[in-house]
Amino acid sequence: FLFSTHSCNYTCTHGMAFTLQERQILGIHGMLPPKVESQDIQAMRFQKNLKKMTDPLEKYIYLMGIQERNERLFYRVLMEDIEELMPIVYTPTVGLACTQYGHIFRKPKGLFISILDRGHVRSILDNWPETSVAAVVVTDGERILGLGDLGCYGMGIPVGKLCLYTACAGIRPEKCLPVVIDVGTDNETLLKDPFYMGLYQRRDRSQAYDDLIDEFMEAVVEKYGQDTLIQFEDFGNHNAFRFLRKYREKYCTFNDDIQGTASVALAGLLAAQRAIGKPLTEHRVLFLGAGEAALGIASLIVMAMMELGLTQAEAREKIWMYDAHGLLVKDRAHKTDANQEVFLHDSPGTVQTFLDAVNTIKPTAIIGVAGAGPLFTHDVIKAMGSLNERPIIFALSNPTNKAECTAEEAYTITNGRCLFASGSPFDAVTLSDGRVFIPGQGNNAYIFPGVAMAVVLSGVRHICDTVFLEAAKTLAEQLSDKELAEGRLYPPLSNIREVSLQIAVKVMEFVYAKGMAFRYPEPLDKNGFVRATAWNTDYDSLLPDTYDWPGVSFSPI
Ligand code: NAP
Ligand code: MN
Repeated sequence: FLFSTHSCNYTCTHGMAFTLQERQILGIHGMLPPKVESQDIQAMRFQKNLKKMTDPLEKYIYLMGIQERNERLFYRVLMEDIEELMPIVYTPTVGLACTQYGHIFRKPKGLFISILDRGHVRSILDNWPETSVAAVVVTDGERILGLGDLGCYGMGIPVGKLCLYTACAGIRPEKCLPVVIDVGTDNETLLKDPFYMGLYQRRDRSQAYDDLIDEFMEAVVEKYGQDTLIQFEDFGNHNAFRFLRKYREKYCTFNDDIQGTASVALAGLLAAQRAIGKPLTEHRVLFLGAGEAALGIASLIVMAMMELGLTQAEAREKIWMYDAHGLLVKDRAHKTDANQEVFLHDSPGTVQTFLDAVNTIKPTAIIGVAGAGPLFTHDVIKAMGSLNERPIIFALSNPTNKAECTAEEAYTITNGRCLFASGSPFDAVTLSDGRVFIPGQGNNAYIFPGVAMAVVLSGVRHICDTVFLEAAKTLAEQLSDKELAEGRLYPPLSNIREVSLQIAVKVMEFVYAKGMAFRYPEPLDKNGFVRATAWNTDYDSLLPDTYDWPGVSFSPI
């Protein structure tokens, strides 16, 4: 069996939890030990084994194995201990798993479509055993987390993202399809790696690549329907913006790195603004990085500021960016691209370093999304601390070693005054005076599962940016005052299921109210509807629906 699709691999799906009748009817009686085991005991065994493991990659391999054998058990354990296990199935460990994908490979998960398959994408989709896919996460592996081009090894990302669709928002696993588009890789190490699993060729950047993506988009909606959600993930910068622009009005699609990141970062800013007591419109934001994440976040901040009464020009004035070639200003020697144009300002004077930029622009918030490692130096953090009573410092680059600074550095250097968030998780920080701060994890995992659930349940045809604004506000509202006082900018990860369902409900209400939803009849009680539809991890009975016809008599009357 190549695939354990979600219903047919009988001896596996339930492990020893098959009832006696199920064993007899399915013809598997005797193939399992006599005990009919509860899922509680199964989960306990699984958790106990996980606790014994110290190596995160070993845990990843073990978890993925359980996902193949007993999907409900996998999700149950993942959901029960999401704080511990999300960093394994998702960032940071999934990054490590991707770099090693060919070395730890056991079984394929998801669809691989290569540039050599042009003209045959539909027949590849037809090989996928599930017929009612509602959501696709696709990558071409060019910019996996902050790790660069991992080609076909990038499959770990769509698989991990879709795990969170199910665990966080209750989207049925069989409705999710992970896809890697393999057009080659420019990663020299992989091209020399005997275990590499993709095409040994350099990335195709010709028209053929665009044609393949076009064909893929068409084939997906042709097979699964026009409202199939297609999430773009970890494409290279240039392609990410291009495809978003090209497809956003034609398909039900979004780019998580641009739009999901924007939403989660804005939610963090909204929470920080609650803590500081100064409206968003009075903040000045300096980005380190001017790519997908930075431009996405900046555009959403502009939208949020405009909702609060600023003009677009006024809002854009409050946003600055600093990339690998310095501050983004008009007439800069190094060319900027079209997406960046609206954030170019007149030069404020000589700026040589990021520290210069901080001291010149005097931001209330710095947001690191360069994926280039610890560039929020001691001096940068210190400068933020002297410019602001409560500086906002977001080190969003993933995985952990790409973060712009650690939580400890941010809290220590600002003496606990900063409002900090990071993309990958950091432990709580205790200062020498005993105060404890719990850093926020500003990760799009708070956003995309709930948004996806709402989109799938509402029959949305295309996804507007306003949806991400709505999701950001909902996320920020979920944080209690007590949590805010602990230094958190996001609700605890242990609440992510509830948070995601809330986002799903609010976004659903929003898209129906705005005439963007096309699934009828409209569920009137959206909260009840979302919760009733969310998939849970109890085993389904595998017995046919058998019942009596009480009192029936077949004698002629
Ligand atoms: P991207 O589109 O490639 O953008 C990277 C940007 O950083 C570019 O503007 C680049 O400038 C700039 N940069 C690179 N090295 C730099 C340096 N040494 N100093 C200053 N700027 C530098 O990538 P992206 O999609 O925005 O992602 C960037 C990072 O954000 C990744 O680490 C990713 O993991 C992280 N991220 C986090 C989340 C989250 O949820 N927390 C979500 C999405 C992304 P040039 O163009 O001039 O080279
Ligand atoms: Mn991503």
